Amino acid sequence: MHIDLLIINASQIATPIDRGRPCVKNELSDISIIENGAIAIHNGKILDVGRTNVLMKKYSADVIINAENKLVIPGFVDPHTHLLFAGYRDDEFVLRLKGISYMEIHKRGGGILRTVRMVRKASETKLADETIKRITRMILNGTTTFEIKSGYGLDTKNELKMLRAIKKIKEFLPVDVIPTFLGAHAIPENMSAEEYVKIIIEEMIPKVAKEKLAVFNDVFIEGGFTYDQCRSILLAGKEHGLIPKVHADEFRDANGAKLAAETNAISADHLVNSSEEGLRMLASKKVCGVLLPATSMSVGSKFANARKMINLGIPIALGTDLSPACLCESMQMVITLAIHFMKMLPEEALTAATLNAAYAIGLRDRGSLEKSKRADIIILDIPRINFLGYLFGGNLVTHVIVNGKILVEDGKIVSHLKSR
Ligand SMILES: [Zn+2]
Repeated sequence: MHIDLLIINASQIATPIDRGRPCVKNELSDISIIENGAIAIHNGKILDVGRTNVLMKKYSADVIINAENKLVIPGFVDPHTHLLFAGYRDDEFVLRLKGISYMEIHKRGGGILRTVRMVRKASETKLADETIKRITRMILNGTTTFEIKSGYGLDTKNELKMLRAIKKIKEFLPVDVIPTFLGAHAIPENMSAEEYVKIIIEEMIPKVAKEKLAVFNDVFIEGGFTYDQCRSILLAGKEHGLIPKVHADEFRDANGAKLAAETNAISADHLVNSSEEGLRMLASKKVCGVLLPATSMSVGSKFANARKMINLGIPIALGTDLSPACLCESMQMVITLAIHFMKMLPEEALTAATLNAAYAIGLRDRGSLEKSKRADIIILDIPRINFLGYLFGGNLVTHVIVNGKILVEDGKIVSHLKSR
């Protein structure tokens, strides 16, 4: 059979196994490895995966990629980002290095509220253009699907502006972008939490839903809201078809894990300070736990207890949490941090950064290299999966294939990004 694309001679093809739900416990490390592997790709999908000598007999192809001495894995899915913003906060980064905490900077009018002031001044086009530059660098680093949150508008006009800019990016880029409404990120200046929550529920959520601008509805309890306020925001979103997500227990135990379980959220993210009870509730409801080790590093806090969560049966995923407070553009870096500081195995980190990350944003058609999955594939210049976290500091990605199209070849963007 003649097909579009054939990848051959891979030192290893390593992929999580999709069991129709996110992987838990030992399933995270129970991955499939094929030595001297090949992948057949046709019409944007994976047609076949096996050994090179077998697939070479079955297929001829328009394009053949020789992945000799290289590792082939699914494209990274980044399930938690604040990629769309204006202006940087590098001075706050230096303040944090001098010992002033993230929450103290927030109280002084810095942090999220400062980004809000800059985003309100920026046009929709400027926001989209800046973000496309960041996403392009992230594609070069192997990320093929992106979640992006609003949350720097904090009024109806600017929250909608952010979500429309995300829509513009989605239309422009050949990668998938999944939008999340995060009206409850912080309380705007000169307004009480009660007043703002009312606006979120009565004004923002209906408009976001009507224009179909978001898939998920996220809350950051520690941004100044109460448990009950966040709960009512998530339930109001559900009535409009928005699926709950929770920024849970980043700086303290604010019952974020509990809230995610109670509202049947698709994911609870951060989980650095969650109670044992909260974690057990997540495990029993099979809510994805999205861990964000680059944030722990950036804000100088402790790392989430990944081993405990894996043992409890929480489906663990990994994300960058890219924002002006955590400027990490590389899932390879996140994997390295997860391995070194959260004691995850390379296989577990791979599953968490691909298949489980896809489930954390509701996508079932990608995240593993199996027949009929979307052909989102990356090739790394390392021979084996053990090199994840072992060889670090540079960009290991040589090829990025999205939806069966080659976007990056030998570390360079080849396809014009607009050719969706
Ligand atoms: Zn976040």
